[in-house]
Amino acid sequence: MNELGSAKNIAEAVREFVADVLFPRTCIGCGSSGSYLCDSCRKNAPRLHEHRCPFCESVVTPEGRTCLACAKRHSLDGVFAPVAFREARDVADAIHILKYEYVTELALPLGKTIAEAVRETELPLPDFIVPVPLHPWKLRYRGFNQSLLLSEPLAASLVPDLPVPIREDLLVRHRFTLPQARSRGAKERRENLRGAFSLDPRNPSAKRDLAGRTVWLVDDVATTDATLEECAKVLKKAGTGSVFGIVVAR
Ligand SMILES: [Zn+2]
Ligand SMILES: [Zn+2]
Repeated sequence: MNELGSAKNIAEAVREFVADVLFPRTCIGCGSSGSYLCDSCRKNAPRLHEHRCPFCESVVTPEGRTCLACAKRHSLDGVFAPVAFREARDVADAIHILKYEYVTELALPLGKTIAEAVRETELPLPDFIVPVPLHPWKLRYRGFNQSLLLSEPLAASLVPDLPVPIREDLLVRHRFTLPQARSRGAKERRENLRGAFSLDPRNPSAKRDLAGRTVWLVDDVATTDATLEECAKVLKKAGTGSVFGIVVAR
């Protein structure tokens, strides 16, 4: 190893040591040490057993697929979430800490939660996984896109030895929008997002790549489906065959 390499390793080790002292790895749920969300708390998080159409929320559908009536007016073919946001406090806290306290390590257990649940469904496997993009300003501020981090364990584990491509070159978010939680009201949220996404103009083959394909759009939560639906609209307009939203919790 060259000098630069070993200096980097030492710096990394020091950083990890400091992080361990300042923010010891203890489980958000049970307080056991070793990780921020331990396997048993992750596996015991209350699951959503009954999935509903994401739009009318009244029709029970397999894996949260869009019901026939709503499918006429919407682009998303469904939204699958393994965890009930309101009941699974540990998972909800983990998502918050990942996003707002920048504990990126939490993306791994959360991504695993999605991967394990989705493997038990009959959802059509995706040709691509598309993490919901952040606006470039927000990406620079936060330093990472949590949707991309959640996509990684999912993409790696859907098909043994054959990672599903994660495509960050298909969609862009070109309008800065207020955080969903702070802009009240479903109608206002939809207005706020209208036209916020488009195909990535830097990728001339985006449309060709998407034609007839199955895409899974990955995001952390779907408190409303407005963001996922806006992305799906763009993808469907470009000729994508089917688009499913895949999130940790809703
Ligand atoms: Zn625990
Ligand atoms: Zn419906």
